[in-house]
Amino acid sequence: MPDQRAKPTTTTTCVQAGLLPTPSATFPLAPPIWQTAAFTYPDLETMEGILVGELPGFIYARYGLPNHHQLERALAELEGAETAVVTASGMSAIAATLFGLTRPGQRVLADTHVYRGTRLLLEQDLARFGVRVDFIDCGDLAAVQQGLREPARLLWVDTLTNPTLRIRNLPRLAALARAAGALLVVDNTFATPIHCRPLAWGATLVVHSTTKMLGGHHDASGGVVAGPAELIEVIRQQVVRFGGRGGAFDAWLIQRGLVTLPLRVAQSSASALTLAQRLAAHPTVRWVSYPGLPGHPEHQLAERLFTGGYGAVVTFELAGGEPAVRRFLRALRLVRFAETLGGAITTIVHPATTSHRALAPTERTALGISDGLLRLSVGLEEVEDLWADLEQALAASIH
Ligand SMILES: *Cc1c(COP(=O)(O)O)cnc(C)c1O
Repeated sequence: MPDQRAKPTTTTTCVQAGLLPTPSATFPLAPPIWQTAAFTYPDLETMEGILVGELPGFIYARYGLPNHHQLERALAELEGAETAVVTASGMSAIAATLFGLTRPGQRVLADTHVYRGTRLLLEQDLARFGVRVDFIDCGDLAAVQQGLREPARLLWVDTLTNPTLRIRNLPRLAALARAAGALLVVDNTFATPIHCRPLAWGATLVVHSTTKMLGGHHDASGGVVAGPAELIEVIRQQVVRFGGRGGAFDAWLIQRGLVTLPLRVAQSSASALTLAQRLAAHPTVRWVSYPGLPGHPEHQLAERLFTGGYGAVVTFELAGGEPAVRRFLRALRLVRFAETLGGAITTIVHPATTSHRALAPTERTALGISDGLLRLSVGLEEVEDLWADLEQALAASIH
């Protein structure tokens, strides 16, 4: 009897063309994009071996693809973590961490100055799930100690606060959390592991929006949580149940971004320091926040916790308030007005009308966000070109 499988019809050949074996004794130099929703197994034993973790292999895109796996290994190593899980966005990583590690009746203590998206998730979703959420200014260590008198599962801070760029005392916060039996989680997006590694300062978990500096080219969305395997496995299961993985191509783009991460971070931070110094000396600028400036309230702490620079973000306030901001933004040519940070292109945002728009003016004031405040994220353009653009826009802001 002829072997039917040896002579498939044209239709079947077309459908299964991608499954034709390609024998090779070589490996690709650049990582392929594993654009597949699932994997096939030669037999049931192989699938069982993969499911119980005895065999290496992949099952289904939402559980994780080779591109996720590669990126996880790289990011865990960069943060000095045992392991990591990558997700579709920074918020996906934050949500899986919060929901994966807490139960109704437990409590989370978070910095008042925490990233706005994190704050909304804590207030509007985690609280609805029955977790008590309290906010405290984590720049005030006595207040944190007081806040930890009642048991808390997690203490949540950002290395650098958005948009005022205050630095959190990670070793002291880690010690307070440890003494109280809480886990310190640090959002390290603004600092990047090139400048600061929170786990080395005692944090238990570190999260990132890899959409920002780690991807670095404004073209991919992703997030990561890194830390000890026993916690990351719980968070990984949460990511899988939430469907928060993200696609292969975005993970691939972020991994490609890592290739130049140290070079990009060094360049952006050096330019940011130069621009911060010049902005601080400019008559139309009321004040500048940049941890690399000696006048920054935590400059000495930054010098201790950070290596190789202080990040790409510079926050400054125009003396002329919102009318000056409107003229300034209209006059910019190279610096782009866009709601993001940490990429190759220099971008700027106006927190009072964008990220913090929904807040009452008194709440914005409490967070240090005035109507004249702008948050600049310095990219890779020539710093003198950037300064020329900022300088002409500052001049335009006063008439
Ligand atoms: C952007 C950002 C997030 C959220 O990340 P997405 O990728 O936009 O979901 C979280 N934390 C910080 C500090 C961020 O800047």
